[in-house]
Amino acid sequence: MFYIKQKVGNDLELTIDIHDENVFTRCPYCGVEFSVDLAEVLSEKDSDLFSTAVVCTACTKKLRG
Ligand SMILES: [Zn+2]
Repeated sequence: MFYIKQKVGNDLELTIDIHDENVFTRCPYCGVEFSVDLAEVLSEKDSDLFSTAVVCTACTKKLRG
């Protein structure tokens, strides 16, 4: 299991487990927020946590014509 650990101010530290329902991204074309299955995204060839973008369903349809 992986989790995110983030300091908030001087006295508070948040620890959040990463699972299939709490990972979100924004579409690089329209900016809509949606949930993603991080395991699925990272299983794609050449994907990584920092530069991989996921396009929303609506923009995918527009791009494919
Ligand atoms: Zn979009």
